[in-house]
Amino acid sequence: MIDSHMHTRFSGDSEADPLDMIKAARERGLDGVCFTDHLDLDYQEEPHLFDLDIEGYLSYMADLKKRYETSGFRIYTGIELGLKSELAQKHHELLKEYSFDLVIGSVHVVNGRDPYYRSFYDGISAREAYRLYFDQVLSNIRSFDEYDTLGHLDYVARYGLKYFNEPLVLSEYADQLEAILKHLILHGKALEINTGSFRYGMKEPNPSYDILRLYYDLGGRDVTIGADAHSPQTVGDHFEEVLRRTGPYFRFFRKFRLDHPEYQN
Ligand SMILES: [Zn+2]
Ligand SMILES: [Zn+2]
Repeated sequence: MIDSHMHTRFSGDSEADPLDMIKAARERGLDGVCFTDHLDLDYQEEPHLFDLDIEGYLSYMADLKKRYETSGFRIYTGIELGLKSELAQKHHELLKEYSFDLVIGSVHVVNGRDPYYRSFYDGISAREAYRLYFDQVLSNIRSFDEYDTLGHLDYVARYGLKYFNEPLVLSEYADQLEAILKHLILHGKALEINTGSFRYGMKEPNPSYDILRLYYDLGGRDVTIGADAHSPQTVGDHFEEVLRRTGPYFRFFRKFRLDHPEYQN
């Protein structure tokens, strides 16, 4: 299994040494890692926090890949791209210039604000925040198609739980979630199963088992899995439990698929 979502010191919010992430992954018995450092252009909450030195990142990772070439341990270089409709053209140009093994399309901001911050909820309820967030996801993926997998679809639920103790109830957002999932399926995208949720006290991955079931029922089969680790301690976190519940139903992203023939159904 490959942990296909993790951050290192190339991300504005991580100090992790890539070598320590690899070491942790090997100790946990993973077959490889896909680094996916942040690029969130025009991030207004803390300007330039999620800029990425793409050339430095890619050249460091290319060396690292070489070093591990004969080890049997797989190293991929991806990116977690902060989606925004108005950045579609810029992202298009960037992905034409640089090549990544995996592009996670993630939505971290709604109208320039990140639900991570308490101030996002000034004057709105958790329910309204959830609806705003899913609307934003839908409009972003309608205006940009060059990602491989949609990151932590219910990202906002991490913080709705933290600030309001209000878990996301699928039935209240079923119309929006169905529209998003159908869009992914129609456009050949994967859905990410992100286990970073457990660090926020959630008992399920992002998105929840309910949403994963809905994706399956709508015909969705392609997934990626990642712990969204920002430090070595959480690489591969909760994979066993989550894979036990979801693995047999899904197939993993094409680049990672050969590693685990049992998940090729
Ligand atoms: Zn993210
Ligand atoms: Zn991330």
